[in-house]
Amino acid sequence: MSILNADLHCHSVVSDGTMTPEDLAARAAANGVELWALTDHDEIGGQQRAATAARAHGMKYLTGTEISVTFADETVHIVGLGFDPDDLEMQRGLHETRDGRGPRAMEIGAGLAQVGIKDAYEGALRYVGNPALISRTHFARFLVESGVCRDTNEVFRRFLTEGKPGYVPHRWASLRNAVQWITQAGGVAVIAHPARYKFTANEEYALFTEFKAHGGRGVEVVTGSHTAAEYVRYAETAREFGLAASRGSDFHSPDESHTDLGQLPYLPGELTPVWDLLADRIQ
Ligand code: AMP
Ligand code: MN
Ligand code: MN
Ligand code: MN
Repeated sequence: MSILNADLHCHSVVSDGTMTPEDLAARAAANGVELWALTDHDEIGGQQRAATAARAHGMKYLTGTEISVTFADETVHIVGLGFDPDDLEMQRGLHETRDGRGPRAMEIGAGLAQVGIKDAYEGALRYVGNPALISRTHFARFLVESGVCRDTNEVFRRFLTEGKPGYVPHRWASLRNAVQWITQAGGVAVIAHPARYKFTANEEYALFTEFKAHGGRGVEVVTGSHTAAEYVRYAETAREFGLAASRGSDFHSPDESHTDLGQLPYLPGELTPVWDLLADRIQ
């Protein structure tokens, strides 16, 4: 059924969100979310708390994560839903994927120091809720607080994206591994916010083709970072590739996110919702 207020993409303090899993659950429930998933970057440390809080609010829950992948020299995000959080291969894979974040963050700090922004690594650490998961978002919050930029968007534009002084190239998980970790743990792999990647038409075709070949089964169609035209475009892509469709706000923070939990249009009716594939994994 497409007419369901499902929000299957958001972040807590366990990655780069600003709210606890419990506060997110309360906010989702207050916004009318019926089926929820917390999808922290490369982390499942918040899953038990999220599932417990969801139950307390009478919301259905699917386990979630958002895995960082490198494909065709770009970073792609793969959301995993409904997997077994105790699966050891999955845990090992996520641990490996997170591992490079510490050294990378120190390099980001060094890059910013070269343009006169001192102690950014130490500054970013003050915003980190989980020492294993330092992200560019934490640097962005520090640069806003210290008055270097007006908002996090400006920080990314001026300092943290390719070609800018705080940009550090990084190799994340392979597409094959990310999809396999999720799938072998009983979950469904979903391409997150496909419109956000700077791919040529050929590269995007390759992404969807290889994703399917590895066992991927879903794509985000309605997400906080897609325009209405992009909903239509990726609904068409979902049909073309025979993928189920997902819906998620990608909410990070009340101060930074323009799409709140559960506040998105419903999925187009003719698509198969990803939760139809996960009926037996819903808690
Ligand atoms: P990382 O995994 O450390 O590379 O950080 C990626 C995160 O940075 C994403 O999940 C977003 O939360 C955030 N991000 C990326 N680009 C932007 C942007 N242009 N404006 C604000 N936040 C962004
Ligand atoms: Mn994020
Ligand atoms: Mn993402
Ligand atoms: Mn996200």
